[in-house]
Amino acid sequence: MSIESAAGLENGQPYPYRRTELVEPDWTRFPGWKDVTREEWESVQWQRAKCVKNLKQLRALLGDLVDERFYEDLERDQRERATMSMLMPPQMMNTIAASVVPSGPGSLTEAFYADPVRRYMLPVFSDRRTDWPSHPHATRDSLHEHDMWVAEGLTHRYPTKVLAELLPTCPQYCGHCTRMDLVGNSTPVIDKLKFNLKPVDRLDAMMTYLRSTPQVRDVVVSGGDVANMPWPRLEDFLTRVLEIENIRDIRLATKALMGLPQHWLQDEVRAGMSRVAKVANERGVSIAIHTHVNHANSVTPLVAKASKAMLETGIRDVRNQGVLLNGVNADPHALLDLCFALLDGAQIMPYYFYMCDMIPFSEHWRVSVADAQRLQHHIMGYLPGFATPRIVCDVPFVGKRWVHQLADYDRERGISHWTKNYRTSIEANDPEALTRTYEYFDPIHTLPETGQAWWREHAGDSLAEAEKRAAASREAAEAQKLLPIS
Ligand code: SF4
Repeated sequence: MSIESAAGLENGQPYPYRRTELVEPDWTRFPGWKDVTREEWESVQWQRAKCVKNLKQLRALLGDLVDERFYEDLERDQRERATMSMLMPPQMMNTIAASVVPSGPGSLTEAFYADPVRRYMLPVFSDRRTDWPSHPHATRDSLHEHDMWVAEGLTHRYPTKVLAELLPTCPQYCGHCTRMDLVGNSTPVIDKLKFNLKPVDRLDAMMTYLRSTPQVRDVVVSGGDVANMPWPRLEDFLTRVLEIENIRDIRLATKALMGLPQHWLQDEVRAGMSRVAKVANERGVSIAIHTHVNHANSVTPLVAKASKAMLETGIRDVRNQGVLLNGVNADPHALLDLCFALLDGAQIMPYYFYMCDMIPFSEHWRVSVADAQRLQHHIMGYLPGFATPRIVCDVPFVGKRWVHQLADYDRERGISHWTKNYRTSIEANDPEALTRTYEYFDPIHTLPETGQAWWREHAGDSLAEAEKRAAASREAAEAQKLLPIS
C-alpha cells in the first residue's frame, strides 16, 4: 500500500477521526498466562520476572498457537541479523495479535507475522531485506554519540544540551535501537561496547562536566532506559542536577512508561517523582518524561494510568518520541491513530517521529526522506498545532533536522544533503563545520533502477568511505577529549 492509498485521497476526509476507547487486551488468551491474575499483572515484580528473553520462554507462553516456522524464522534472525537481544515485558507482548481470538494450533501465526509491535520488538529473518540488508553507509553508533562523549556516557552534540546515558540497559529491547552499539546484551552479530568506569564514578564525571559547562541548560537523562535505574540512585542524580544553576530543562527518557507502566505506578516512584518535581518547580526548572511509543496498539489503560500518575506528581509534561518504521507506522492513518491515542487517551504529547537510523540490518524498517516528507504533509491539520509531531531526520554529524530542511536531494541515488548552524563537540577546531554539507542515505531498494545500479557498482567504495569517516570521527574525538564547546 502506498502512502497515498493509505491516506484515502479519493473522497471524503482522508483521515476519519474517531475517538477510540483504550483497552487492555486479555492476557489469559495466551496459554502461558491463562491463570495470571490482575494483581500479578499489575505487579512490576511479576512483569519483570516474566519478561520474554528467549525462544524457550516464547514457546512456553504461546505453545502451538504459532507455527514452528515462525519460531525458526525468529531463531535465524537472532543468530544472523539481530543487533538487540530479545527482551519483552508481558505488558508489551500482550498487545501483539490482540484482536485475534486463538482457535487452535497455528491460529495466531499470521497475526503474529503481520503485527506492528511484533515487527520491531521480535524481528524475524524473513522481515529483513535480502538484497540490501544494510546500507553501505550503515554503522554501529551511526550518530557518533560515543565520539562526542565529554565524559563517559555524556554526549555533547548540540550547543546547549547534553545526553546523559546513565546505564546501558532497558526493561525492553527494540530491534531498531539506535544505541545498539552500547545498549543491551551482545548478540551473535554485535559485540556491545562496555562502559569502563564504575557507575558512581561515571555519574560523578558527568556532574563535574555539567557544573563546569554553563552553556549547557538542558539534560536528557537517558540510557538505556531510566526505569532500570534503582529509584534512589536516579533521584539522587536528578537532585544533584537540579542544584546546578544553569540547568533549566530535564527530560527523562523512558520507553518503560509504555513497555512497563507498572514501574512508574509504584508508590516509591510516584512519591520520589513528586519530591523531584517539587524541587524543580521551586527552582523554575522544567522536568518532563519523554517516552517512545510507535503504535496505537501499545497505548492501553495501564499506560494512560502511568502517564496520569506522572503528571499528577507535578512534572511539566509527558511527551512521545516515536520512530518512523516501515511495516509498523509509516502510513498517515497509523501515525494519526497513534497521536490521537496518545493525546486523547493518555495525555501524552506527540512530539517527534525520528526516521530510523542507519544502523546495520535496518533497511527493511527505513523509509526514504521523500516518503517522510509526504507523511509529514499527510498528518498536518488534524491535530492541534502544539501536538502535531515533527518528522525528523537525525543526520550523522549534524543532528535532528525537520525532513523538509534539506539543502539538496539526489533522488536517483537517494542522497540528501544537509547543513547545520552549530558545532558539535568534535568540531571545535574545524573551520568548515558550518559550511560543509552532510549526507543522509535513503534505503537503496526504494530507489529507481538506475540508482540501484549505481549502488551495486559503488557499494564497496561507500563502505570504505563510511569506515574512513567513522575512523576520522573517532580520531577527532580522541584529539579533542574533554574540550568544551566555546
Ligand atoms: S527503549 Fe530505547 S534505548 Fe532501549 S532498546 Fe528501545 S530504543 Fe533502545
